[in-house]
Amino acid sequence: MDRYRISEGAHLDLRSMDTRDTSAYPSLSKKKAVPVLAQMRRELADLQRVMWADGNHALLVVLQAMDTGGKDGTIRKVLSGVNPQGVDVTGFGVPTEEEMKHDYLWRIHRHAPAKGRIAVFNRSHYEDVLIVRVNNLVPRVRWSNRYDHIRGFERLLTDEGTTIVKIMLHISLDEQKERLEARLADPSKNYKFNPNDLDARAQWDEYMTAYEDAITETSTSYAPWFVVPADRKWYRNLVVTQTLIDTLKGLNLSYPVSDHDLSDVTVN
Ligand code: AMP
Ligand code: MG
Repeated sequence: MDRYRISEGAHLDLRSMDTRDTSAYPSLSKKKAVPVLAQMRRELADLQRVMWADGNHALLVVLQAMDTGGKDGTIRKVLSGVNPQGVDVTGFGVPTEEEMKHDYLWRIHRHAPAKGRIAVFNRSHYEDVLIVRVNNLVPRVRWSNRYDHIRGFERLLTDEGTTIVKIMLHISLDEQKERLEARLADPSKNYKFNPNDLDARAQWDEYMTAYEDAITETSTSYAPWFVVPADRKWYRNLVVTQTLIDTLKGLNLSYPVSDHDLSDVTVN
C-alpha cells in the first residue's frame, strides 16, 4: 500500500490531502469491505504466525492521530484476527511523575517488541514533538533536537531486528466535530469524551504543522510514515491492514526447519 507512504525528504501538506479518499479500493463500500477485511485479517494472522515461529524479527506499529482519529478502533478491527499471545498494545498518555524524571524515550524503549512479536503503540514518542511542541511543554531547543534522537532510536531498533511502520490516521476537522458530537450524544460513547480534546481541537492548525514537521523529519527508508485517509473507517481499516500485510510479506519469512530428523519419529 505504497500510495500513502511518505518518502524520505518529501514535502507534506496535510491540509490539502483528501481525508475521505477511497481510491485504493474504488469498487468497495462500507458493506462490501466487510468480507475483504475478513480475508485480509486471515492473511495477517498467517503472516504473524510465521513471524512468531521464526522468532528473529519483530514488528513495531506506531499509531498517531488527532483525538477521535480512530486509533482504538483500528487496533480492534485490524488486529482482532491475530493470535493475542503475539501482540502487545501499549497506550502512551500523559507521562507519570516517574516518567517525567527520565528522558522521553525511557518509557518507550521498554515497550519495543521482542523478537517474534508485534508491538502496537497507541500514541508514542511522537507525542514528545506534537502535544509537547504545541503546548510549549519544553522549550523549542529541546523538542527540535528530538527529531534527530528519534531517527537514531528508530535506526537502533531496525538495525537490531525490528521492522517499524508508522501510521498517521488523518481525519478532517469536520469529521472530528461529528465524532466528538457522537461521543456527547451517545451514552455508550460518553466515557470517551475528554474536555481536553476541545483544547487540542482549537489548536488544530498548530497540530497539523507539528505533524507535518514530525513526519517529514522522521519518515526514513528504514522507518517510513504512512498518512492514511481516515474519515471513512472501513477504508482506513483496509489500508492499515494491507500496509501491515505488505510489511510482513516484505520480510520473506518462512517456518523454521526443525533441528530434529523428523522422518523416523513415530508417535505411539
Ligand atoms: P488518550 O489517548 O485519549 O488516552 O489521551 C492521552 C493524552 O496524553 C493525549 O492528550 C496525549 O496528547 C497525552 N500525551 C501523550 N504523551 C504525552 C507526552 N509525552 N506529554 C504530554 N502529554 C502526552
Ligand atoms: Mg482521548
